[in-house]
Amino acid sequence: MFKRFLSYYRPQLHLFIGDTACALVLAAIDLSFPIILRTLAGGLFSEGSAAILDALGMIALGLIVLYLVRTACRYFVSAQGHIMGARMESQMRQDLFDQYERMSFSYFDRHNSAEMMSRVVNDLFDICEGAHHLPEWLIICTIEIVGAFVILFTIAPILAGVMAGITLVFVAIMVHQNYRMRTVYAENRVRIAEVNSQLQDSLAGMRVVKSFANEEVERAKFGHSNERYLASKVDMYHVMGRYQATSALMTGSLYAAIIILGGYLIAHNQISAVDLATFALYISLFATPIETLVNSTELFQKAIAGFRRMDEVLRHAPDIADAPGAPDLVLERGEITYRDVCFSYETRERTDTGEERPVIDHLNLTIRAGETLALVGPSGGGKSTTCALLPRFYDVDAGTIEIDGQDVRDVTQESLRKAIGLVQQDVYLFDGTIRENIAYGRPRASDSEIEQAARRANIHTFIETLPEGYNTVVGERGSRLSGGQKQRVAIARVFLKDPSILILDEATSALDNESEAAVQEALAELARGRTTIVIAHRLSTIRSADVIATVEQGRVVEQGTHDELMARDGTYARYYRMQFEGDRAAAWAC
Ligand code: ADP
Repeated sequence: MFKRFLSYYRPQLHLFIGDTACALVLAAIDLSFPIILRTLAGGLFSEGSAAILDALGMIALGLIVLYLVRTACRYFVSAQGHIMGARMESQMRQDLFDQYERMSFSYFDRHNSAEMMSRVVNDLFDICEGAHHLPEWLIICTIEIVGAFVILFTIAPILAGVMAGITLVFVAIMVHQNYRMRTVYAENRVRIAEVNSQLQDSLAGMRVVKSFANEEVERAKFGHSNERYLASKVDMYHVMGRYQATSALMTGSLYAAIIILGGYLIAHNQISAVDLATFALYISLFATPIETLVNSTELFQKAIAGFRRMDEVLRHAPDIADAPGAPDLVLERGEITYRDVCFSYETRERTDTGEERPVIDHLNLTIRAGETLALVGPSGGGKSTTCALLPRFYDVDAGTIEIDGQDVRDVTQESLRKAIGLVQQDVYLFDGTIRENIAYGRPRASDSEIEQAARRANIHTFIETLPEGYNTVVGERGSRLSGGQKQRVAIARVFLKDPSILILDEATSALDNESEAAVQEALAELARGRTTIVIAHRLSTIRSADVIATVEQGRVVEQGTHDELMARDGTYARYYRMQFEGDRAAAWAC
């Protein structure tokens, strides 16, 4: 893990070296000022004052040069140090995003998107703050603290010893307080996350809130989270106040010690007044670095924890990967064969007796090229899972799925997924224009190709009625379009992709009759000439399918044409008759 972390410094090595060198120079200059002043003052008060006064011009010039160098170093450390951190953060963000893009569906089943977002935003910020501040702080603060004490010990060992003792006691107290501060900060972060998620949930579900007239309930829930956040902030500021007061008390005690003990030592001629002033100058020099060092332990822990979480993601090998040297899928006719397929999700279901129940259980199916297979059966029977296995969203546990005789696991995922078009019930549109959403099927498509796809998907006429036509922004998840319109944009997207194989999950109840007719028509047009698997809920689709397969508990319990299945008088026939009897069938088919 440490090696991987260091690898992010490598491209920024020049900045890192510059940053470190400037930090060193900064610390050395800061450390030298009290000494320069001491020498000057010592000279002025002694017999050599005339010589000092003569050289004052040169000394002033030297000091100006030192200040200029210090200013330049401060600029480099502040600006370039942060730039180095930002570049590392940008690289990590890209790596994390690329890794998420590589992950298979099973990963997204186990992790929620808020958690993944937090990694990309919060963790990376912490990691990169640590990456550039910690080395710089460590150098500057250590040199200033150790250097100051070494100098003080050479001037007046007794006074320096007492000061070191006082400092150690306060550092111990501050470390303890800092630990408490961390717990309070952690609590604070949990509380703000609660407030944010409450807010997000409430805003996203605003239609539900209003339709149930539950604004008061939501207000109370939000108010509760908000109060808890406030309480944790009040707690945080108390702890922070105590910490800063302790730091101030440390500085105060050090000054008191040099005034009392220093006064005593001056009275006994053991140190000079100039020495005492030098001590006072060094107190202000090392008090801040001590506070910074104590605080840096928190940043260090946050950065390490953040990087560990990020490393976990980066090290996670995607469950589904191309076999080395895998060829592209060669589509000849587009025939699909499921041979004795078994599959369970990683979050496996268990029966009442605790046994594992496979979601797909020795399933066999053949869909001839250009034909349509309708999957029907009870909800939870395994229809969607059967479809998800074809583009390798998940890999089968046993058996094989072949397209034109090629096992889907032996060809590249890219060629496989390019060959398959998917229209789901729950359409996802990106927050862009209608044109961009349709062009998602083929980013380099021309305007006329996009329009042609929209025409075939029965959505062109509607788009033309919009004031901004194809440039209309669809809103988050396509919220500015109706269910049927979203479906048809999604169908246009697949028209443009022009795949040989189609998987359709028919929308069930979300559409009104008119939209439904338009969507059905578009789907029928899309399916023409392509090998199609459709999770069918509509009788019209089911009847026109070449083959109908009833799937129950992950098995194909019967298959054939509508007439064959009716003649068999099995499950399908029962279902079909039920549809005529009333809506009870919906419960069976959806
Ligand atoms: P259908 O499409 O026939 O309604 P599904 O294929 O969606 O059935 O589901 C089959 C079974 O698999 C159900 O019991 C469902 O709860 C389970 N299931 C579906 N998707 C997942 C998933 N991503 N993770 C775990 N279990 C799942």
